[in-house]
Amino acid sequence: MSESNTVIKNFIQKIIDEDNLSGKWSNRVHTRFPPEPNGYLHIGHAKSICLNFGIAEKNNGKCNLRFDDTNPVKEEDEYVISIIDDVKWLGFDWEERLYYASDYFDQMYDYALTLIQNGDAFVCDQSSDQMRDCRGTLKQPGEESPNRNRSIEENLELFQRMKNGDYPDGEKTLRAKIDMSHSNLNMRDPVIYRILHASHHRTGNKWCIYPMYDWAHGLEDSIEEITHSICTLEFEDHRPLYDWYLEKLDVYHPQQIEFARLNLNFTVVSKRKLKKLVDEKHVEGWDDPRMPTLSGLRRRGYTPLSIRNFAEGVGVTKRDSIIDVVRLENSLREELNKTAPRVLGVLDPLKVVITNYPENKTEMLEAINNPEDENAGSREVPFSKELYIEKNDFMEDPPRKFFRLGPGREVRLRYAYFVTCTDIIKDENGTIKEIHCTYDPETKGGNAPDGRKVKGTIHWVSAEHAIDAEVRLYDRLFKKENPEEGGDFLDALNPDSCKILPDSKLEPLLLEPESIIYQFERLGYFKKDDVFSSNGNNVFIRVVSLRDSWARMMKQGSGQ
Ligand code: ATP
Ligand code: MG
Repeated sequence: MSESNTVIKNFIQKIIDEDNLSGKWSNRVHTRFPPEPNGYLHIGHAKSICLNFGIAEKNNGKCNLRFDDTNPVKEEDEYVISIIDDVKWLGFDWEERLYYASDYFDQMYDYALTLIQNGDAFVCDQSSDQMRDCRGTLKQPGEESPNRNRSIEENLELFQRMKNGDYPDGEKTLRAKIDMSHSNLNMRDPVIYRILHASHHRTGNKWCIYPMYDWAHGLEDSIEEITHSICTLEFEDHRPLYDWYLEKLDVYHPQQIEFARLNLNFTVVSKRKLKKLVDEKHVEGWDDPRMPTLSGLRRRGYTPLSIRNFAEGVGVTKRDSIIDVVRLENSLREELNKTAPRVLGVLDPLKVVITNYPENKTEMLEAINNPEDENAGSREVPFSKELYIEKNDFMEDPPRKFFRLGPGREVRLRYAYFVTCTDIIKDENGTIKEIHCTYDPETKGGNAPDGRKVKGTIHWVSAEHAIDAEVRLYDRLFKKENPEEGGDFLDALNPDSCKILPDSKLEPLLLEPESIIYQFERLGYFKKDDVFSSNGNNVFIRVVSLRDSWARMMKQGSGQ
C-alpha cells in the first residue's frame, strides 16, 4: 500500500473518533469560528478557520461563524464585513448560522442573575487597582473582597442598578464567588460584568454593562450547542473557569480542546500589532500586499487553495512552534508553477537596437504559455527592430562567467533569435543609453542551423508594442526572524520591503483578463494591482519570487 493513502489524523480528529465510538455527542460534530471583530483576520486565523470548518466538513458536521463582540470599545462593522468576506473567500460556508455574542446579552444577563440568586456571584466595589492588589500571586493566596458576603437581595438590587446606569464606569463589578486562594489565578473571584458606558456596534446604547470574555465565551458555545470548542493553548488555564460557570448554571457543556497557535517567522500575527502598523501608516492599510492579513495575502495574489494547503500542511499540535514563512510561499509557488501562464516582462529596461533588422517590420513569434501544462498552448509575441532587455542582463566589462550580453558576445533572445552586441551608445555623462546588436536571421525560434551554441538566454519585449507599467517588488515586511524578540517590533521593519520600478516594459498581452497571475520568465510571479502609478500606468506587483531568494542569499553570504 502506498503511504500517501494513509490519512494522518490530527489529535482533534482522534478525539472526535473516540467520541463517536462512545456516542458522547450522538455522533454530532458542531464547531465554530469565533473572531472578535476588532481587526482584520490574519494567517493565524486562517489556521483556525480551516481547522474548525475542516473538522466539521470531514465529519458531516456544522460550523458556525460567530462574532465574539463583547467589547464595544474596539469593535466595528468594518471588521465584521471584512471577516465575512475573508471566510467566504477561503471557501467556507456557515449556511444560515451567522451569530453574534451580542445577540445573547439578555440571556447572559439572566444567567448572571441565576448565579447571584444561587449565592455564586456578588457585586464588588473594589476598583480594578484594588482588585489587582488583592489578587495574590502564584505563591500567595489573594484577599477576599470586603463585599464578598453581601446578601443575595442586596446583590440583586445593586446588579440591577449597574444595568440601569446608576454608576459610572469602573465603580462596581459583578464577580464570581469562587476561591481567593485557588492555585489557578483565573479562579480567584473573576469579574463577570463591568460597567462601560459605550455604544456597541450592534446593540447601540441598550447596555452599559458588558460581559467579560471569560464569562461570555463559554456561554456562547453552550447556547449554540457546540460539541468541540476548539481554541488556542493560552485558554487552557481558563478552561476550569468555563467549566465552573457551566456547572453552576447547570447548562449544556461543550468540550474545550486547545491547540498551538500558528506562528510564522519574519511575521507578526497579532491583530493589535497589525492595527498599529495600519494606524501609524507603516503600511498602506490592512490589505497592503506585505501584510499577513487575509485581505493582504489576497491582494498579493495568494489563492484560497494555497492558504488551505498551507494550513493543512502545518498540521495541528499541542506544542508551540514557529513555522518558516517559506512554507507559505512554497505552497503558492507550487500552485502557480502549475497554473500561471508565462510571459515576458522587463522590469528595469535597457534599449536594444537590432541594426540589421528591417525598419517598421513586426514579426509574430511563437511562445509557449506554460511548459508545465500541455493544454495551455502557445501565443504570439511581437518582435521588432527596437527592443528592451533587463539592464542587469548586460555588462560592459563582463567577467568570464557572465553568460548574458556583453560587447562582442552572442546570446539567445527567448523565443526569438541569437543576437550579438556590436556597440554601446552612451550619453554625455557616460551612462549607457542603448546598445546596438545584430541578429542572425537563421536562428529564428532560438536555434542555429550550424549547431553553434550560446550560453545564455535572456528575456526581452518589443519597444513599440510593450505596455508601460510600474512594478512593485515586495519583500518581507520584517527583517528579523522574530520581530517581537527584544524590543519594539517596529524596529524590525524591513526598510526595503517595497522596491518600485517605475519604467517597466511588459508583453502586450498582459492587460486582459485582469485577475490572472503570470510568471514573468526568469523573474517571478506577478499580478496587476487595482491601483495606478502617479503617471497613470498600470501597477504590477510581485506575488512571489521563483525561488526562495532569502535562502539563496544566506547561502551565498556564508558559503564564500
Ligand atoms: P490576535 O491575537 O491576533 O488578536 P485573537 O486570538 O485575539 O487574535 P480572535 O478574533 O479572538 O483573535 O480569534 C478568533 C479565533 O482565531 C480564536 O479561536 C483564536 O484562538 C484563533 N486564532 C487567533 N490567532 C491564531 C493563531 N495565530 N493561530 C491559530 N489560531 C488563532
Ligand atoms: Mg481574542
